[in-house]
Amino acid sequence: MENIVVTQLDKDFKYEIASRPGAGFFKRCFSCGTCTASCPVSEIDESFNPRLIIHQALLGMREELLSSNTLWFCAQCYTCYARCPQDVRFTDVMTVLREMAVEQGHASKAMKIKTEKIDLLAQKLRHGIAEYALKREKGEDASILVEELKKELAEGLEEIK
Ligand code: SF4
Ligand code: SF4
Repeated sequence: MENIVVTQLDKDFKYEIASRPGAGFFKRCFSCGTCTASCPVSEIDESFNPRLIIHQALLGMREELLSSNTLWFCAQCYTCYARCPQDVRFTDVMTVLREMAVEQGHASKAMKIKTEKIDLLAQKLRHGIAEYALKREKGEDASILVEELKKELAEGLEEIK
């Protein structure tokens, strides 16, 4: 985290976030780090840190947070949502922060739509791959699934372009 400039902190930021549907519980965070420890994105990219994002939001680092690229890294997998001991619902908080980033001029609406499509495609592929692996384990023919996955990927990539 970069140096904090106290005069640039926005004390209303956390209330604004908490007032939005989906983010009502985010002030419950007690910074335990379970979200970061269980996040598959954090595992491959340390710059993405859900615990830190909540911390920045609570401190009032509006500009820094809403203009950060890392807002768009979350894969919306809901692992942190399920494991958070405080029921902060981080996945939904991310959605709210993205909406605010668009509204406050830090990202385009097209960027948000594209990210949602990428999340959806990633989820479909993950399900398809899991289904494929299960079929193979049972010794069943999974070749049709491979073709379906290829088609899904090609169509998804075309849509995201
Ligand atoms: S798991 Fe929940 S309480 Fe712990 S740091 Fe993450 S959001 Fe906060
Ligand atoms: S929903 Fe986002 S932040 Fe939470 S574990 Fe999944 S990728 Fe990480």
